[in-house]
Amino acid sequence: MTKKLSGNEIRQTFIDFFVEHGHTAVPSMSLVPGGDATLLFTNSGMVQFKDVFLGTDKRPYKRAVDSQKCMRVAGKHNDLDDVGRDDTHHTFFEMLGNWSFGDYYKKEAIAWSWQLLTDVWGLPKAKLYATCFEDDQGHIPSDDEAADIWKEQPGFDPSHVLFFGRKENFWQMAETGPCGPCSEIHIDLGEERDNLRGTDHICGVNGQCTRYLELWNNVFIQYNLFDDGHLEPLPQKHVDTGMGFERIVSVLQGVDSNYKTDLFTGSLDVLRSLTGHSQEQMYADFTPYRVVCDHARAAAFLIADGVVPGNAGRNYITRMIIRRAARFGTKIGLREPFLAKVAEAVIEEYGSFYPELVKSRGAILDNLTREEIRFARTIESGTAQLENLLSELRASNQTTLNGRRAFDLYATYGLPFEISRDIAREHGLDVDEEGFKAAREEHSLASGGGKAMGKTGGEDAEFFAGILKDLQKHKKLGEHGVEYDPYTSPRLEGEVLALVTNGQSVESVSFGDQVQVMLPKTGFYIESGGQVDDTGYIRAERSASGDEAWEIEVTSMRRASAGVIVHVGEVISGQPKVGDLAVAEVDIRRRHDIMRNHTATHLLHAALHQVLGEHARQAGSLVAPDRLRFDFNHPEAMTPEQIERVEQIVNDAVAADMEVTPKLKAREDAIAEGAMALFGEKYGETVRTITIIDSEGLLSPAQKQASGLQTLAEAVVHPASVAEHQPKYSYELCGGTHLERTSDIGAFIIVSEGSAAAGVRRIEAVTGRGAYDLIAHRFKLLKRTAAIVKSSVEELPFKVESLQDEVADLKKELASLRTQQAMKMMESQFSSVQKVKDVNVLAMQVPNSDMDTLRMLADKFREKYPNNAIAVLASGTAVISALTNDIVSRGMKAGDLITAIGGRGGGRPNMAQGSLPDPAMVNDAMSEVVKVVEEKLI
Ligand SMILES: [Zn+2]
Ligand SMILES: [Zn+2]
Repeated sequence: MTKKLSGNEIRQTFIDFFVEHGHTAVPSMSLVPGGDATLLFTNSGMVQFKDVFLGTDKRPYKRAVDSQKCMRVAGKHNDLDDVGRDDTHHTFFEMLGNWSFGDYYKKEAIAWSWQLLTDVWGLPKAKLYATCFEDDQGHIPSDDEAADIWKEQPGFDPSHVLFFGRKENFWQMAETGPCGPCSEIHIDLGEERDNLRGTDHICGVNGQCTRYLELWNNVFIQYNLFDDGHLEPLPQKHVDTGMGFERIVSVLQGVDSNYKTDLFTGSLDVLRSLTGHSQEQMYADFTPYRVVCDHARAAAFLIADGVVPGNAGRNYITRMIIRRAARFGTKIGLREPFLAKVAEAVIEEYGSFYPELVKSRGAILDNLTREEIRFARTIESGTAQLENLLSELRASNQTTLNGRRAFDLYATYGLPFEISRDIAREHGLDVDEEGFKAAREEHSLASGGGKAMGKTGGEDAEFFAGILKDLQKHKKLGEHGVEYDPYTSPRLEGEVLALVTNGQSVESVSFGDQVQVMLPKTGFYIESGGQVDDTGYIRAERSASGDEAWEIEVTSMRRASAGVIVHVGEVISGQPKVGDLAVAEVDIRRRHDIMRNHTATHLLHAALHQVLGEHARQAGSLVAPDRLRFDFNHPEAMTPEQIERVEQIVNDAVAADMEVTPKLKAREDAIAEGAMALFGEKYGETVRTITIIDSEGLLSPAQKQASGLQTLAEAVVHPASVAEHQPKYSYELCGGTHLERTSDIGAFIIVSEGSAAAGVRRIEAVTGRGAYDLIAHRFKLLKRTAAIVKSSVEELPFKVESLQDEVADLKKELASLRTQQAMKMMESQFSSVQKVKDVNVLAMQVPNSDMDTLRMLADKFREKYPNNAIAVLASGTAVISALTNDIVSRGMKAGDLITAIGGRGGGRPNMAQGSLPDPAMVNDAMSEVVKVVEEKLI
């Protein structure tokens, strides 16, 4: 081995190697196997080709190569127990495979395995072993064919062929169907890697210790197995191979743990930067690190395939591994949410090969953090409760916790079974898994979980209207229904009036249930005027009558029907009941970010009027916590200067610390006063207005006039309250929630300006914390860039300019050197000009040349041979052919010559250029030239 390959390079060399041998590179299938209801997750490379082997489907290729994403965390293949405890197990892993569907067979498969491992990857030949099948039950013929092929491989030690029986070396898809012998390749890692060194054990291939490691399994599918146990040969034989990616990377990188390969370096570095541990400290207690890295990687890939944390099936698994990772994080002192940071490293490492990670980055980071926050709210009470149960258990001399009790912990505190079992085992106890499953089954039937999820859209309006009527009849709600007030207090108390889950009104719900909650009054904002829904929590304290505390996370809001506002969310602890007294609290940090963006939107609107003119009216807007988006009428792109000025004006308005005042008014009055209203928006008789007072006199009188805002003079003519005599900086009809003062915005940065539709421009901007994050990020990039080019930030532009000049000079120099080199080569090659019939023919490759160089060389050739000459020159797949005119008049054309040697191209009769389809055929094509001339030239 020359240089150590990175994990990404190892994967790529595997794929490239088989592509060179005629395989089609096939992308990994999703972790969620389509059309296979029997399987929770894709757990091997075979899953996506199963139907091809069964003969129920065909592919356009007969040879394939891939790296398949796999999960083994549930069902028959469940590695969860071992993950973290050792260096080799993973919940998520990749499986490299090459496949033949009725095409090549043992001879090629074995030879290629050998070539890739020893020639390409440079593994020592003397350390490799091959196992072949010999039936321990004496029915199926031995696979001597594979054994003989192994013995023919150059440098393979024939005594390293070993035979094993059905357990190790025979593969079958199921009880019946396609099956066949396997041949595995093992490596001897040396005595020092033997974990049982010095003890009496079976030390060898398929033995008991870690010295011999299986690398690659080649399965030769050649029989069909019938009910009665008899075998028939398949009409078409297949090859199915699998090589654990993490394992081969560890061997090629010469490390003793999959977790010490570069695949995990980024994740571990992130974790160590958080814990402050040195590498030695980390290795001393490696288990939590291994669990966190493994689970974070698995969760990132699952979320990228659309499996978000939830209460059942695959979603439960995602929830469980995130929570398990979070718990192991606490063992190394991590309290704050940290998994998103680890996931960033995962995306960085894998994103180039698995673009779905990059595409889903937002969803991955978001889901991880949210799930961690949910879990953090209950983990302490949950584990305390579990510890109590475990002490009771020990006191009564029992060793296994009742599964029903474990389920209660899940239903109340969201403590997944697997975590309860981890904790129990840390105390030398266990939990009854079957009992847990039975309790879960019962619960899901009782809560109607078998039915379809809640109806969407307006379909359930009638259903909610019915609930409202009933509540009004019982005097729980007045004639207007649920009261809506997002403007005063973000925290309101009230009785739980209704709980709806799975499209049914229920008396109580429990952990993990998706639920819609009705309270008499809400302070949560419902999306309108571009401002998004509030999120937050509804919770109940432990009641005097002994009812347990509970909590619901509110993720969105709905107007389900006239007078009905519901909070949509998920139970994150306890068992909420109708009639419980609860507190509903808006996520105030998030709301504050939204308000910053909303008030900034009004300032942006005003600034656009000042810079572009009054026609720049709002055409759409989005006010979210992380950014604002503003669409406005304007016929052309803004200039960089205009964008800068708008940004400057808004930041001046922020610094002026202007007062923002909401007021209810008669619609006609507000419009008459020049309040900006949106076209096409329906307003009631009474409207809410938002005024920003120009207390520092930022607007000139002309600007006030131009923007149509009320001037002091006008205010005197139309007497109103004193406050309204103050000049207005901005005046809009708006139902949104706003800051009290503009200075609260902090900072305002325009991120982009572009086209939204014909005649409509779009600005995206950030404020407050978002602006700070952006600035900090840009500074970091700037500093990093400066460090890379060895300059200070201030000198960076000059440094980059001078580097670019340098590159341009070097390019020029290189081009002239290449031309000189090519000329030299050409001259030396004139000796290899062949006489075909009476013609001078030159066919040669000129590496690293562009078309211009080739053309120049062709001209030079024709200078030397003005008559009776043909040249075909190639560089890579680019090819040029040049003929002297007398050859053309003998009926030959330059373009035809390229076609005749298998290329494509065109041009003039005496000079044509084109390309050859495949770099592998350039040699052959060049040797074709003489033959073609011989045959075609009269
Ligand atoms: Zn051993
Ligand atoms: Zn507004």
